[in-house]
Amino acid sequence: MNDKPEPSPEDNRRLLDTLLPRKDELKARERIAIPAQPMPAQPARERVRNMSEVALGYAHDQARLEALRCLQCKNAPCVKGCPVAIDIPAFVKAIADGDTADAIAIIKRNSLLPAICGRVCPQETQCQLDCTVGKSLKDVELSVSIGRLERFAADWERESGRMLPPEVKPETGRKVAVIGSGPASLTVAADVRREGHAVTLFEAFHKPGGVMMYGIPEFRLPKAIVQLEIDTLKAMGVRIVTDYVVGRTRKLKDLLERDGFDAVFVGTGAGLPKFMNIEGENLVGVFSANEYLTRSNLMRAYDEGAADTPIRRGRHVAVLGGGNVAMDAARTAVRLGADEVHLIYRRTEKEMPARIEEVAHAKEEGIRFHLLRNVKRILGDETGRVVSVECLKYELGPPDDSGRRRPVEIPNSEYVLPMDTVVVAIGNDSNPLIPQTTPEMETNRWGNIVVNENNRTSMPGVYAGGDIVLGAATVILAMGQGRQAAAAINEQLREETKS
Ligand code: FAD
Ligand code: SF4
Ligand code: SF4
Repeated sequence: MNDKPEPSPEDNRRLLDTLLPRKDELKARERIAIPAQPMPAQPARERVRNMSEVALGYAHDQARLEALRCLQCKNAPCVKGCPVAIDIPAFVKAIADGDTADAIAIIKRNSLLPAICGRVCPQETQCQLDCTVGKSLKDVELSVSIGRLERFAADWERESGRMLPPEVKPETGRKVAVIGSGPASLTVAADVRREGHAVTLFEAFHKPGGVMMYGIPEFRLPKAIVQLEIDTLKAMGVRIVTDYVVGRTRKLKDLLERDGFDAVFVGTGAGLPKFMNIEGENLVGVFSANEYLTRSNLMRAYDEGAADTPIRRGRHVAVLGGGNVAMDAARTAVRLGADEVHLIYRRTEKEMPARIEEVAHAKEEGIRFHLLRNVKRILGDETGRVVSVECLKYELGPPDDSGRRRPVEIPNSEYVLPMDTVVVAIGNDSNPLIPQTTPEMETNRWGNIVVNENNRTSMPGVYAGGDIVLGAATVILAMGQGRQAAAAINEQLREETKS
């Protein structure tokens, strides 16, 4: 990462004092010369002992300096990289001008969850990828930090107590069911409720929020921020029913035919963990990343004494995989007190799907990376508990279908590493229950629900979006799909009311 040591607040103030009087006349080269602002963060040695958020957020002067780096490009390549097309130059300019209220208003025209997306969007592959400043400096990490500025504006709004629930139009008497409570569903619930339709949200878990609540750890996304979004929905009059598994508690078809819902949105995500199908995967001490993270996050197993959910506090933990989920699991294991955490990945760091920032944080926290390695089998003792993993070395061959170079086994390169816990983090498939119990709804060969450009499924009145349609994707893509689906639901209800 290019985050240099933080300049002092006095340095930042002095620099701002020289720039602000000419802020609208600054030349491109002067803007590019402003130092990129590092994200203040908890030091690694402290944060490994707590679950609190690692990134602390920009101070006011830092945010204005970072915003002054923006060149206000006419063609705005950053906007093309944002899945929900936020007017980035406009909100960044508002921050540079010191008008944070205007900045958040601009962001909220397109995004309902800016405090969340500003934290977890993979910005370096989206809005920041083609930023002109990053391109000029030949380093994507020196692009304008759009995500951090979005988070700054959203946090300012929340902390200043200005967050008001959106206005709800008069009741229409129409009813919409939303299944699941991840970002796709929360967006649908808000956008449909705003039009005055009654919305009931059904969630299988005892707490709403989807992966943002049970998957992404507290140290990356504080749960209080997700809870606030849910509280806002409640304040708007959305009814939230938890511990309700559609497909088991009630069939999807019954929601339409018996319970009088006029439309249904399915946002059930990709929560089915993939396994390696290797010897020893059923030993005691082997977890899917989903189970491991859910126990830690949703059931607060890390909070010893305050929670009664057991979790294995392994001393030697192997995490298999190289994505964000693997980083989250490995960093959680460190915080649960492991002596050693080993991340085992078949390719090199260049091919890792995890965000650069997460990889850097994981390394700072002492996680040992075993690259071009994979686990061939997991070995146990006579009581059925994990004692070690047998690894195999790999080298990179030609690119595969994903465009990444294919890992090729090196014969006879096996070696054994002692471990007591193994977390498998190699990806997730779509939740199968609703497709299985709703045969009239079309799915593809991966079990994802098939939708048209308006997120309508093959069943009349039923819409779907997020990971259940896209396969495991991102929060912002799920939110974008939710927006599209909500617009189509509102249109359906409007048309039906007219006729
Ligand atoms: P989800 O968030 O998956 O929510 C689906 C909800 O539906 C769940 O609450 C589930 O319990 C509920 N449900 C399922 N079946 C039923 C049923 N039959 N009845 C009722 N309810 C049901 N994305 C990023 O952008 N940035 C990140 O940094 C990032 N990190 C991640 C880390 C982890 C550990 C994981 C697992 C994912 C991460 N993602 C990240 C991906 C992102 O969280 C998902 O793409 C996103 O949450 C998908 O949203 P969704 O609304 O489709 O569904
Ligand atoms: Fe970038 Fe995500 Fe914000 Fe869009 S929503 S501007 S991609 S951080
Ligand atoms: Fe600003 Fe970068 Fe967007 Fe240009 S591409 S408007 S410099 S954020």
